[in-house]
Amino acid sequence: MNLEEKKKKLKEITKRVANCKKCPLYKNTTQSVPGEGNPQAEVMFIGEGPGYWEDQQGRPFVGRAGKLLDNLLQLIKLPRKSIFITNIVKHRPPGNRDPLPQEIEACREFLDAQIEIINPKIIITLGRFSLNKFLPGEFISKIHGQARFVEFGGRKKVVIPMYHPAAALRNEGIMKELKSDFQKISKFLESFSFKEEDKEKETDKQLSFL
Ligand code: URA
Repeated sequence: MNLEEKKKKLKEITKRVANCKKCPLYKNTTQSVPGEGNPQAEVMFIGEGPGYWEDQQGRPFVGRAGKLLDNLLQLIKLPRKSIFITNIVKHRPPGNRDPLPQEIEACREFLDAQIEIINPKIIITLGRFSLNKFLPGEFISKIHGQARFVEFGGRKKVVIPMYHPAAALRNEGIMKELKSDFQKISKFLESFSFKEEDKEKETDKQLSFL
């Protein structure tokens, strides 16, 4: 899919998200937060759901957790505009409560479509809800910072689970782990820089190398 097609399809999703009434979350929000970034991103970050500031601005990760994410991206010299950032649910859960299973399910088609259109090499999950989408039953404390291979929408993807920045803001130990996990991102990007048609062969190679 070329850049123009990707942009067009992502815009369509943004519109559908803005009009979505599939779950009640939209009722208490200022606006939807569909996600933003480079339609051709190699790295996609998936958080949990918009908080207060995201709801105010219609953009993901612009509050305190967002500032931390920006700092971590700067630390590894990965420009925010080169990546795509989105969330499991696209409307703010009231009082920042956890999204409910039926809300996650209602929003799933939008996230799945974003992943299909962008087709990132690496998906970085921030927090347990996005981890659970790709690796149900796994624990962040056990597998954070490790590359895992998953089959998603008929394509092989590299998923790197990480702690949520909001958790790092509450706990110094988690902050250290998150920083050290971020520092692995460039290495992972180099390791997984291969052409689409070589993906399967390379995935097998990487698996034996890790
Ligand atoms: N936390 C999230 O999970 N997503 C955001 O966009 C902001 C805070």
